[in-house]
Amino acid sequence: MNWRETLNRLALLLAFAGGVPAALAGDWFERFKDEATDAALHRFLYAMPKGGDLHLHLTGSAFPEWLHDIALAEAAQGVAYYVKTRIDNCAVEVDRVDAYLLLHRTVDQHRLATLSACERGEYQALSALDAEARAAWMNSVRLDAPHEGRDEFFERHWQRLGDLLRNPHLVAEILYRNMRAFADEGVAYIEPQVPVFGFLDRAGTPLAPEAVLAMYRQRLARADAQAAGVTVRFQLSALRLHADAERVVREIYRLASEHADIVAVNLVGREDDDRGHPLRFLDTFRDLRRTYPGVHLSIHAGESARPDSHVRDTLLLGAERIGHGLNLIQDEQTLLGLRHGPYLVEINLISNLLLGYVDGFAAHPFPEYLRTGVPVALSTDDRGMWDSTLTDEFFVAVREYGLSWAELRALGRNSLAFSFLDEATKSRLLTEYARRMDQFAKDFQRRGEALLDDVQPLRRGFVCRHYGLCEGEGDKEGAHRGNG
Ligand SMILES: [Zn+2]
Repeated sequence: MNWRETLNRLALLLAFAGGVPAALAGDWFERFKDEATDAALHRFLYAMPKGGDLHLHLTGSAFPEWLHDIALAEAAQGVAYYVKTRIDNCAVEVDRVDAYLLLHRTVDQHRLATLSACERGEYQALSALDAEARAAWMNSVRLDAPHEGRDEFFERHWQRLGDLLRNPHLVAEILYRNMRAFADEGVAYIEPQVPVFGFLDRAGTPLAPEAVLAMYRQRLARADAQAAGVTVRFQLSALRLHADAERVVREIYRLASEHADIVAVNLVGREDDDRGHPLRFLDTFRDLRRTYPGVHLSIHAGESARPDSHVRDTLLLGAERIGHGLNLIQDEQTLLGLRHGPYLVEINLISNLLLGYVDGFAAHPFPEYLRTGVPVALSTDDRGMWDSTLTDEFFVAVREYGLSWAELRALGRNSLAFSFLDEATKSRLLTEYARRMDQFAKDFQRRGEALLDDVQPLRRGFVCRHYGLCEGEGDKEGAHRGNG
């Protein structure tokens, strides 16, 4: 018996002595981590059952090839999209110059018709782009180059998507694609922040938020979406920087109170712009609470590297969950108050790295929160733009912070326990999650890595670039990236 076996036997005895079967204590997982290659660990985590994703923006969760395919499919319904592929220095009004200079902006035929002949000449039909131009268009909505960061994301990525995001049929299709992709990686529940304002029907007529929501529901009800087996509830969000943000908050709060499938209200928008600071909304939320019962709040706060009181102030707004909570680590009083508390911090590791809020994963406070009893769950934020998956968030967490099996289970459990689901559905999903995890652990201990032989994990750009997970795969990488 070598030293490792001796230790394992000892651990087994100790675990049984403490009343916990060693299988549940997870020393099998520690052995697997010790020996597994990165590729094997990623495959394991892809196959591993997951709970929910509580923090994702629907329109930031579309991979570029989905957008491309869905946009082209709209041609059958009479909608055509055009991409700005060059700049001919056409004359434009001063307040349009920034938008004008944005390459790869996508417009529909209604908007194209409003442009001057000079500007129309700068656009090419999305369907007519050659391979190189199509790749450039797809790249323009991925945040993958070293020089791209926060400004590129907040000021240009969304703007480029342009009219794609005012077609509710297209956004409903993004919802369906997400359900399928999340199902493939074992996710049981998603709570996406969905857009409902500024939509037009295919003829170009404005649509009310209720009409947009009805279209989402119709898409969810179709057999292919139901077959994915992923439970979906919606959040609505307001862009906190806008001058009329309070009006939007009132509107979405009313919608959330009237529709059972809208489970929460959120505030979004960069926090380094002080126009949207949390306490601006205190009177509004207090007023709304006087009027409407039963509306949950999950609010972005502390998505910043600098210390401020945003997490504390956001709890004062009534938030039950905090999105990001990165600078909570610098607000010690609030941090102490959150230990073992009823509030959850939604952690987005890859987002925080790519937007430059942390210099590296070693600087992320997630393991400190997790191991001091602050409730946390992993989520994806805008994974279409990061070119990543929820599996990748777990991969980063295990690889960088050595998560134990018990910690993995706690993260999955939190992602359901802190969801805004009704109690009956929540309890059903929690029971199923525990059963699926037990079965997965049991099967893996019995069969080892052979259990994963048939698993084809989706490896997208982030883990390929950051961890070299796709090296030597050649064309296989393309095959992986194309599915889902
Ligand atoms: Zn977010």
